[in-house]
Amino acid sequence: ERRNEGEPEFLQAVEEFVRTVMPFVLDHQKYIDAQILERMTEADRIIIFRVTWEDDLGQIRANRAWRVQFNNSIGPYKGGLRFHPSVNLSILKFLGFEQTFKNSLTGLPMGGAKGGSNFNPKGKSDREVMRFCQSMMIELHRHIGEDTDVPAGDIGVGGREIGYLFGQYKRLENRVTGILTGKGLSFGGSKVRTEATGFGSVYFCENMLGHRGDSLRGKTCLVSGSGNVALYTVDKLHTLGAKAVTLSDSDGFIHDPAGIDQDKLRFLKDLKEVRRGRISEYAERFKGVTFHKDQTPWGVPADAAFPSATQNEISAKDAETMIENGVQAVCEGANMPTELAGIHQFLQAGVLFGPAKAANAGGVAVSGLEQSQNALRLSWSHQEVEARLQGIMHDIHAKCVEYGENPDGTVNYVKGANLGGFVKVADAMLAYGAV
Ligand code: NDP
Repeated sequence: ERRNEGEPEFLQAVEEFVRTVMPFVLDHQKYIDAQILERMTEADRIIIFRVTWEDDLGQIRANRAWRVQFNNSIGPYKGGLRFHPSVNLSILKFLGFEQTFKNSLTGLPMGGAKGGSNFNPKGKSDREVMRFCQSMMIELHRHIGEDTDVPAGDIGVGGREIGYLFGQYKRLENRVTGILTGKGLSFGGSKVRTEATGFGSVYFCENMLGHRGDSLRGKTCLVSGSGNVALYTVDKLHTLGAKAVTLSDSDGFIHDPAGIDQDKLRFLKDLKEVRRGRISEYAERFKGVTFHKDQTPWGVPADAAFPSATQNEISAKDAETMIENGVQAVCEGANMPTELAGIHQFLQAGVLFGPAKAANAGGVAVSGLEQSQNALRLSWSHQEVEARLQGIMHDIHAKCVEYGENPDGTVNYVKGANLGGFVKVADAMLAYGAV
């Protein structure tokens, strides 16, 4: 703990991981001899730098940026960039740590990393965002490369930001190559990357329910957030015959008992992706919808929940309420949205709990497929990429069952995902010797 003082999110992620992996490590002398957990919990390298940019009033502004290159044992570093005022080293270390095992679970050759800045894109003009991205890339470009480290989007970093970052990289290096994923379709992006995390999360839930002989059809679902992951979660839920009844942002949540259908989604995509408006507008636009200021959606009765906003958005108290209300499945679209005590309660109550490492791996999986297409200088069809995404989510589920099945036939997906991700990374590190 002393080594990572003042880093609560990182310690939380490590604790959740070590709790489930430790018995397995203690059972294998080779991992003990190699001090594997001590090594795995230390990032390979962390780069911290200043980003100076000019706002629309001509004032000079400065932010801090990071790239945490956590572990490249099984492939080049891979992981998103986050722009949010709350970003700090603890959050990026937790995300980079998680990313290492998530990427391993996808079966693709990707190491783990995360980065970003405490820059707040909210309320900034396009030109301000552009100047920030260009300035950030002036430093970042030295540390990334298609065989070294390939960043992507995350909170506050979507298609617009990736476009500005990629354009600046191209200018600096005079190379058009796959050094970022989540690119626009006209310059090397993959079909289905935008949808991948949300779609993948719903597929994972369908796999968990399917394993119990159940399905999402007819289920009422809670979704939090209203960004990239949340909107495409709602989209796929609707396609599979489930009913999403909530969405949120940092101002509060909306409750639409009639369910969010494709017409309403069209409005939402314009509201959030084009106009960058607030979710409360949805309640003004559609009848029968209520807006609950400064609240989260976890008190609404439902069958399943898809937390898709940010870390620690489900407290132990929320988990208790959800269990009382009959929630049978929780699928983490966001990273670490459930507090440790909440996870414990879900597992105790027999709720199907899909942890982020497994449930939201669809995004990075399609990023991996974007890298493959860039290397081949080819572009696969929507159907082809979506079929591969579905296959990968199915395989991740199978790996969770392999490592997480209890003697009574139920599955502990937290244990399954942690162990399933751990083994490949650990064995690669052992093969390299003491490095
Ligand atoms: P977006 O920026 O597109 O959307 C984030 C959403 O969450 C917004 O509605 C935002 O509301 C809300 N939110 C963010 N921070 C907070 C906060 N501190 N408190 C309350 N609400 C908040 O991000 P994504 O959809 O891409 O990411 C959402 C989650 O999914 C993150 O945990 C991310 O790490 C994870 N994830 C994303 C992947 C991807 O492919 N994009 C891949 C795997 C995981 P507001 O606008 O008010 O801030």
